[in-house]
Amino acid sequence: MVILITGGAGFLGSHLTDKLIKEGHEIVCFDNLVTGNILNVSHLSDNGKYRFVKHDVTEYLFLHEKLDWILHFASPASPVDYAVLPIQTLKVGALGTHKTLGLALNKNSKFLLASTSEVYGDPLVNPQNEEYLGNVDPIGPRGVYDEAKRFGEALTMAYHRVHGLDTRIARIFNTYGPKMRALDGRVVPALINQALKNQPMTIFGNGMQTRSFCYISDMTDGLYRLMMSSTNKPVNLGNPHEMTILELARFIVELTGSKSETTFKELPVNDPRVRQPDISRAKKELSWEPTVQLNEGLMKTIEYFERKLSEGE
Ligand code: NAD
Repeated sequence: MVILITGGAGFLGSHLTDKLIKEGHEIVCFDNLVTGNILNVSHLSDNGKYRFVKHDVTEYLFLHEKLDWILHFASPASPVDYAVLPIQTLKVGALGTHKTLGLALNKNSKFLLASTSEVYGDPLVNPQNEEYLGNVDPIGPRGVYDEAKRFGEALTMAYHRVHGLDTRIARIFNTYGPKMRALDGRVVPALINQALKNQPMTIFGNGMQTRSFCYISDMTDGLYRLMMSSTNKPVNLGNPHEMTILELARFIVELTGSKSETTFKELPVNDPRVRQPDISRAKKELSWEPTVQLNEGLMKTIEYFERKLSEGE
């Protein structure tokens, strides 16, 4: 199949690209590199089945190729990034989704939206299943991301209903692994890097807020299964193993043998207090559930950042 992936030079998109190439597909990537890194895909530069186009997907989109799929992953994705890029985040979620859906219609291709657990906001139920409608503050600092993704889901369903486009919506929960940026503000790379440098590990609030972490290879497997399924409903993809941020920090100290202590900072506005996916739908419709244990995934991620630090990054 010929697949266009937007945001394909980012963390998730580059791993998914590797999986798709391995499965024998041909990939075109559109990325403006606003938060991505060309080094994430530089190993594919001589691959005849891969083409990179530096392009902002909120602008006019044109492609000669026939397309079987469009995977829309372009968007700043970490709280640090969308705090710096609030308007770009809203634009790529709204205009970027509109442009890519229009292209899918024009090419008669299928469409997958990389949505997020953030559509549930600071949830009032735990775990969250796909029927939960969310608790989002539209004007808070996280609203630019949460509402852009909620709009993206609404637009995707509108194209499905009005034009009969074959669409998928992946509600992706916290995912981690190699190729994340050390300073992108997400908790796993932040704590690992502080631990490896024996620096104080920053905990926001009292550290009792919970998250559930999915290793990248489980996530790309789930995304691929979602593509191959026939479900047009949103599907939660994530690891249901829920833990507090303090537990995560202690685990990282144990795995790295770090001498780091913890330091506490004020909890950011609208930070979700709990986060755990109910993955019943993914289990039923995709026969999918994560298989990588946290210690295994964290060790691979720690080794990646150790290598980066030894290279002077
Ligand atoms: P990332 O920042 O590493 O990747 C995003 C990519 O999109 C980057 O390469 C960036 O340059 C590109 N991009 C942004 N705006 C663009 C534009 N206007 N035109 C073209 N390219 C643009 O983030 P990620 O973690 O890989 O996230 C990828 C997608 O998955 C995002 O849509 C995000 O919302 C979603 N997601 C990720 C997670 C996670 O835990 N990593 C969780 C939920 C949802």
